Amino acid sequence: MPKATITAVVNQKGGTAKTTTSENLGFGLAREGKRVLLVDTDPQASLTIALGNPQPDNLEITLTDLMKKVINEEPIAPGEGILHHPEGVDLVPSSIELSGMEVSLVNTMNREKILRQYLDTVKNQYDFILIDCMPSLGMLTINALAAAENALIPVQAQYLSAKGLEQLLGTINKVRRQINPKLRIEGILLTMVDARTNYSKEIAALIRDTYGGKIKVYDQVIPRSIRAAEISAEGKSIFSHDPDGKVAQGYKALTQEVMHDAEKRRKRELDQLR
Ligand code: ADP
Ligand code: MG
Repeated sequence: MPKATITAVVNQKGGTAKTTTSENLGFGLAREGKRVLLVDTDPQASLTIALGNPQPDNLEITLTDLMKKVINEEPIAPGEGILHHPEGVDLVPSSIELSGMEVSLVNTMNREKILRQYLDTVKNQYDFILIDCMPSLGMLTINALAAAENALIPVQAQYLSAKGLEQLLGTINKVRRQINPKLRIEGILLTMVDARTNYSKEIAALIRDTYGGKIKVYDQVIPRSIRAAEISAEGKSIFSHDPDGKVAQGYKALTQEVMHDAEKRRKRELDQLR
């Protein structure tokens, strides 16, 4: 059985639409019949809340418990702690308790690979695993990058910080060299793009120039719309909240692009095996 493509949705800057993208790309892939697991690695638990769990601190099992089990070498039952959303995605939820994990990992053996070890136990059951990262480059984000094959970087075009992006790419390269040689940058996604300005094309061109075409910028950008902001309290996807809106269209097209890239990668891997 093929194992999941694991993607970290990452940017140490807050408010770049990491959570919104994890959520709606996840739903988009599920609508295409893919088996999708979302993993909330942010102690703020925005993704957990957005998926219809308004009180994450009352959940019985969260990512913290699962990571603790890995650290203590305790068995994890099939499906343990995984929540099912009616629109067809699964979720490993987070809660504020996870902020303690960031600290306790420091003294843990193999501390960068705890999340990866957990995902090893579930990845045969999914086609795509999306890891929603917190806005920092701390231990939990390093764990996400150590577990992933791809990094998808949402950037708010209007507030692009060249320094911030440089720092993020530096961390990704370091993780690739030292921990996870399979890690690659899947692409930069421009989010909250204002239709009235042409800004996004300039930014995309700037990024392409700066990195000599080595880093992909997704053709598809995600437009800004109040509809996207509304769903975080609704517990449902943009596809059911505003199916004909431009954000739903954006995530639909992004879903196609991501599936296409995953397919290309799989073919390349198969060719290498021959
Ligand atoms: P992050 O996870 O990177 O911190 P979020 O996904 O939580 O970012 O998004 C930050 C804020 O912007 C949230 O309030 C969210 O509802 C809003 N938002 C996300 N995408 C859009 C969009 N396309 N248009 C308008 N607002 C958006
Ligand atoms: Mg977030």
